[in-house]
Amino acid sequence: MKIAFIGLGNMGAPMAANLAAAGHDVTGHDVAARPDGMTMADSAALACAGADVAITMLPNGDILRAVAAQIIPALPRGAVFLDCSTVDVQSARDVAADARAAGLGALDAPVSGGIGGAQGGTLTFMVGGDADAFATAKPLFDIMGQKAVHCGPSGNGQAAKICNNMILGVTMIATCEAFALADKLGLDRQAMFDVVSTSSGSSWTMNAYCPAPGVGPKSPADNGYAPGFAADLMLKDLRLSQDAARAADADTPMGLAAMNLYRTFVEDEDGAGRDFSAMLPRFEGRHRG
Ligand code: NAD
Repeated sequence: MKIAFIGLGNMGAPMAANLAAAGHDVTGHDVAARPDGMTMADSAALACAGADVAITMLPNGDILRAVAAQIIPALPRGAVFLDCSTVDVQSARDVAADARAAGLGALDAPVSGGIGGAQGGTLTFMVGGDADAFATAKPLFDIMGQKAVHCGPSGNGQAAKICNNMILGVTMIATCEAFALADKLGLDRQAMFDVVSTSSGSSWTMNAYCPAPGVGPKSPADNGYAPGFAADLMLKDLRLSQDAARAADADTPMGLAAMNLYRTFVEDEDGAGRDFSAMLPRFEGRHRG
């Protein structure tokens, strides 16, 4: 396929490289990044000329809207506009509606798996949009990832992503504060792990991504809390889930508490640039207020 790839940052560059390595004809565009070995166009619109699929991997919904306004008129009718960025549900729905009105297929397909998943082609895609566009994009998902779940109409990919990450943020905080309490009660961290990881308090954050160094499988905690999944990105996703909860009139008190804790950690403390599991050393150093 002829593919335009807009947004060649930490995630987009390796995803585009994997598509090119699989034999697709990929033309990239980015306002700043110039990855080695990638054929580049001078504008997003030029990259889209004659493309079968345009993929975007951009920082936020406002930038997605701006890029969509450039590329929707430039794509041939029948092409698919595939946005893989993590953005607010409303931006995803609005951009998809504009694309459909121009005779394009539209998919929102945010990912989980991070930079390692993008490099290794093992991302998971959560996809909203129509079935025909999903079928067109499926071979591309199979190159860039290991799993693509069709979640329903436009916006539902973003909805699945922010609901998942709201659970993840809340659960990581619960796991970290429980470790900090266990410390103060004199409970050994290995014993804590051995019990909880096989009991009803178990979770992915305990069992697969344990925030305590030297305990459980290898995780960012064993690497000085270098990300991994940065606390800044967790804060972004928790903000998106709170925006969505406000718009949909959903009551999400734990998501709100998690957002406020990550905001304090990233903006007022030393959390920026650290893995989101670095909440454990944060709680360790604190006292009941
Ligand atoms: P990044 O900042 O490394 O890359 C974004 C790229 O978009 C940059 O190269 C930037 O120059 C480019 N860009 C900005 N405005 C542009 C424009 N108008 N036209 C063309 N290019 C433009 O970010 P990233 O880590 O690659 O993340 C991309 C998206 O993936 C985000 O929405 C993020 O939330 C999501 N995501 C990231 C991770 C991760 O671990 N990094 C994991 C899952 C999802």
